Amino acid sequence: MKKQVVLYKKLSPPLMARLHEQAQVTLIESLDAQGLDTLREALPRAHGLLGASLKLDAELLDLAPDLEAIASVSVGVDNYDIDYLTERRILLTNTPDVLTETTADTGFALILATARRVVELANMVRAGQWQRNIGPAHFGSDVHGKTLGIIGMGRIGEALAQRGHFGFGMPVIYHSHSPKPAVEQRFNAQYRSLPELLQQADFICLTLPLTAETEGLIGTEELALMRPESIFINISRGKVVDEAALIQALRAGQIRAAGLDVFEHEPLNPDSPLLQLNNVVATPHIGSATHETREAMARCAVDNLLAALAGERPANLVNVLAWKV
Ligand code: NAP
Repeated sequence: MKKQVVLYKKLSPPLMARLHEQAQVTLIESLDAQGLDTLREALPRAHGLLGASLKLDAELLDLAPDLEAIASVSVGVDNYDIDYLTERRILLTNTPDVLTETTADTGFALILATARRVVELANMVRAGQWQRNIGPAHFGSDVHGKTLGIIGMGRIGEALAQRGHFGFGMPVIYHSHSPKPAVEQRFNAQYRSLPELLQQADFICLTLPLTAETEGLIGTEELALMRPESIFINISRGKVVDEAALIQALRAGQIRAAGLDVFEHEPLNPDSPLLQLNNVVATPHIGSATHETREAMARCAVDNLLAALAGERPANLVNVLAWKV
């Protein structure tokens, strides 16, 4: 008998066909109230789940007594209670690597957009306000040669360092749990404590996961260590930053600008004070959002799920303790 899979993300026709070959599939088209009802109805018979952007808490998962695996179409796994999943021996998989370069591209897009005021000035042109040569009031700041500070030197941090070092001649400093000698050698990067990095970097980029340890990592005190010419970039998760403190720092001119792909609450409320600030570039969580990368992530998730349901160890197992040896 085929295993039952609940999809809460639409897949491309070739991936759908692959999944249908091996499993009985229920597709939840949208995670609105009706979609969540359908999910609740499907969970009691589900062996596998595949999707993203849904907090799958114990209340939901208790409805799925036969659940064997969840394939998340994301690298971040902050939407899951890993201890709960491990206790129930439900395998959780993610999609690392395939999104690394694209997410680093997004980080660099935000670096360039904030430093060169791309959105603000493009909007000025669109509004018919470009009536004479622009002057210092509209100048931006250089990116090349400036110090790139990376907090969380993992896969995406490293891809950002590569762009900064080779592409823009930027000195790279970083903070992570532990020093990374290979990264230091490749990009001439230097390890810093968090306060040192915040004081010394021109661009401060967050590329670490949201965990109990990193939630609220950047707050009033940390923002106070940055300089008025510092630019803050967040492509990790919104809750790593105290958003109210960031708004306060931007309003007070404590830092020059912020490029934000992620927010405390998503989608960002259109009334958010962040959107009143010309020195904020806000994007709708597009880190990995290209056609090519989203397809590669979905393929990776399908591979992981089918392996898990076939009793094989999936390539991207997050909770290794749930694996039965
Ligand atoms: P990764 O390879 O696991 O790298 C994360 C790095 O963060 C690790 O190197 C780790 O350092 C460091 N770290 C963790 N906790 C830390 C702490 N408390 N202090 C300092 N450093 C800490 O993960 P990745 O693939 O680069 O992805 C990173 C995160 O980016 C994901 O978890 C996700 O939340 C986010 N992301 C966002 C988007 C988007 O759409 N905006 C897309 C993809 C990913 P050590 O190695 O020293 O332990």
